[in-house]
Amino acid sequence: MTRSITILGATGSVGTSTLDLIGRERGNWRVEALTANCQAQDLARLAREHSAKLAVVADESCLPELRDALAGSGIEAAGGAAALVEAAARGADLTLAAIVGCAGLAPTMAAIEQGKTVALANKEALVSAGDVMMAAVARHGATLLPVDSEHNAIFQCLAGNDPAHVRSITLTASGGPFRDWSADQLAAATPAQAVKHPNWDMGAKISVDSATMFNKGLELIEAYHLFPVGLGALRIVVHPQSVIHSMVEYRDGSTLAQLGPSDMRVPIASCLAWPARMDTPCTPLDLAALGELTFRAPDEDRFPATRLAREAAEAGGAAPAVLNAANEVAVAAFLAGHLPFTQIAVMVGEVLARYGPAAPTLLGDVIAVDAEARHRARAILELV
Ligand code: NAD
Ligand code: MG
Repeated sequence: MTRSITILGATGSVGTSTLDLIGRERGNWRVEALTANCQAQDLARLAREHSAKLAVVADESCLPELRDALAGSGIEAAGGAAALVEAAARGADLTLAAIVGCAGLAPTMAAIEQGKTVALANKEALVSAGDVMMAAVARHGATLLPVDSEHNAIFQCLAGNDPAHVRSITLTASGGPFRDWSADQLAAATPAQAVKHPNWDMGAKISVDSATMFNKGLELIEAYHLFPVGLGALRIVVHPQSVIHSMVEYRDGSTLAQLGPSDMRVPIASCLAWPARMDTPCTPLDLAALGELTFRAPDEDRFPATRLAREAAEAGGAAPAVLNAANEVAVAAFLAGHLPFTQIAVMVGEVLARYGPAAPTLLGDVIAVDAEARHRARAILELV
């Protein structure tokens, strides 16, 4: 039986990994819509290769280029924020939410509202919308599958078990490219150094988040919403080899872990085939060749991001959305060479300390908090 799929953020790292897997099982899939921010040529090429019905650029100024690139293909082209949401609302059997940042929130919510299956890579959307998104999942009877490797691991380790028996959940963190750097070295870290991750090949924003440990902070909040075991039961351990993707400890002392190669196609395949399994071309794990797996506690003096994220989750309400928005602005400023690496966490802490809006109850509230927090973060940036 073929299933229809829409990929939001099709030209990115997660999007292209997903298309790689789909392309190996063409008979099983019909591609409804593929979207990108701009990247009209890449998007048109992917849409032609996978016979998509619709291609959408979120940035409307890129639509003429997309139309030209799709000329004669019969593939529909559209552009702009409303077209992106409409594409997500076409009700594909599976929507892969792989846009980076809170920009993916509105289309992801539109997909959830169709009551089908949404595979979520776009962690910033869940961090920002939190309860608003989880309430929509429940209200519309949607199935939310976690693509993020840690959350996918936890999801697999929870299968068949009663969450009431969970004692703790441990998210593993690679520690990023700077895990052994001194505070002085961190202060001088460059964007080129930050985007070179030792284990994973990812988009620029998540690579910087991995280097600051904000990625793990966002993932802590993501796990808090996906797996309701309480914040106190969520832990983080640094595991430089990225072989164990996360673990669940039960009340009897059993800990279940999921292991796999550092290749996002493994958790993506788990979502594509769920609740069944599919083949992937990933290099299998060779534990004897790896020799050893090591673990250590996170250092929140050098990497305060996980502490800030835990505090935002404890504060609840709009705090995680503020944290996420400030981090997005800070990361963009760092990548543009306008903000030192260690100032990313400082700036996020400042925005969180100065801005405490009421808890959002609607999608529009979340978007307003996000916009205001960005505005405040940019105002602080001008003073740096
Ligand atoms: P990426 O930068 O490689 O790709 C992002 C995609 O989103 C692109 O298709 C881009 O065109 C689109 N996009 C960017 N800005 C947009 C906007 N304003 N409006 C609409 N579309 C926009 O990012 P990625 O590494 O693939 O990450 C995507 C998401 O998945 C992120 O939330 C990230 O945290 C999460 N994630 C990624 C990985 C990974 O290995 N790359 C692993 C786990 C989770
Ligand atoms: Mg992850």
